[in-house]
Amino acid sequence: MISHVDYLSEKDTVPMLICFVVPCYNEEESLPLFYDEACRVANVLRQQSHAEAEFIFVDDGSGDKTLEKLRALHAKDERVHYISFSRNFGKEAGLYAGLKAAKGDYVATLDADLQDPPSLIPEMLQFLLENKDYDCVATRRKTRKGEPPIRSFFAKMFYRIINKMSGTEIVDGARDFRFMTRKFVDAVLSLSEYNRFSKGIFSWVGFKTHWISYENIERAAGKTKWNFWSLFKYSIEGIAGFSTVPLALSSFLGVFCCLIAFIGIIVVVVRALLFGDPVAGWPSMISIMLLIGGLQLFCIGIVGEYLSKTYTEVKHRPLYLTKETDGEDRRFTPSANV
Ligand code: UDP
Ligand code: MG
Repeated sequence: MISHVDYLSEKDTVPMLICFVVPCYNEEESLPLFYDEACRVANVLRQQSHAEAEFIFVDDGSGDKTLEKLRALHAKDERVHYISFSRNFGKEAGLYAGLKAAKGDYVATLDADLQDPPSLIPEMLQFLLENKDYDCVATRRKTRKGEPPIRSFFAKMFYRIINKMSGTEIVDGARDFRFMTRKFVDAVLSLSEYNRFSKGIFSWVGFKTHWISYENIERAAGKTKWNFWSLFKYSIEGIAGFSTVPLALSSFLGVFCCLIAFIGIIVVVVRALLFGDPVAGWPSMISIMLLIGGLQLFCIGIVGEYLSKTYTEVKHRPLYLTKETDGEDRRFTPSANV
């Protein structure tokens, strides 16, 4: 078998294949812009590195004309492939489906809105060709410029909390824009969990990763699909997926409350013995009962969160269902969770 390393010497006979994996949800406005830029980059790759490119678009149940646009692109350019989901399964499922369909020696994952500049790909390929002990080039934003301050604040808090709790490093500002070797992609695909948190999965699989930073770029067209609530759910996904510290924390909280209660009982008993037992302190008692009740519910909630994740995992539902593909056999992958 020819590895990516051998291609440098084999380059006159077997061209490398670079796959662009692009999740798309209601991206009819961005798609033409993305396609033009991707074609330009594909030409650079051919000239610079004797590499061929193919584009795998994953239509994540879009309600607009994204699928029509993809059909048209496939009809005019055989490098364009697409998988269309039966409904919106989320970007994580889109990435998984795209990675699974990608057969390239190298795979890039990037957004359709040009916030992840495809023009960096030739540079990323060059890095991996020259540094054979690296298997991934990842990107992060230098700053959160252009983002609402409240969103930046919660994002920063999330990264601080998750990195304290999890043994897997989740890099602040990391984007899902990555360039990976076949080996790295296969490792990512071997984690077929239902509750996917790519930022954690990419880090968990290990391998040497080279980081490059760039300024935050505004969307080329269309609107962001993330609102505060979806980001909140995403962060819970991350914490529950890559840390069990909250479970330990709830036990700790329980023991702490028991200790306080124990000391309280001793104080009350001693006071009653010394000074009698005047009926007083109902408001404080109710407050304490509410507090303890609240803590209990909170802890049950944490346990419930993990239980629900286990429940969705054991059901072994597919990560996504395919409605339509461009017709290539290898891309008929209705069930991913195998
Ligand atoms: N996306 C997707 N499914 C979703 C939401 C988003 O495939 O349910 C895609 C979207 O089309 C885009 C990428 O994921 O290519 C990033 O989404 P977006 O630009 O809305 O996120 P942001 O850049 O604002 O974080
Ligand atoms: Mg975006």
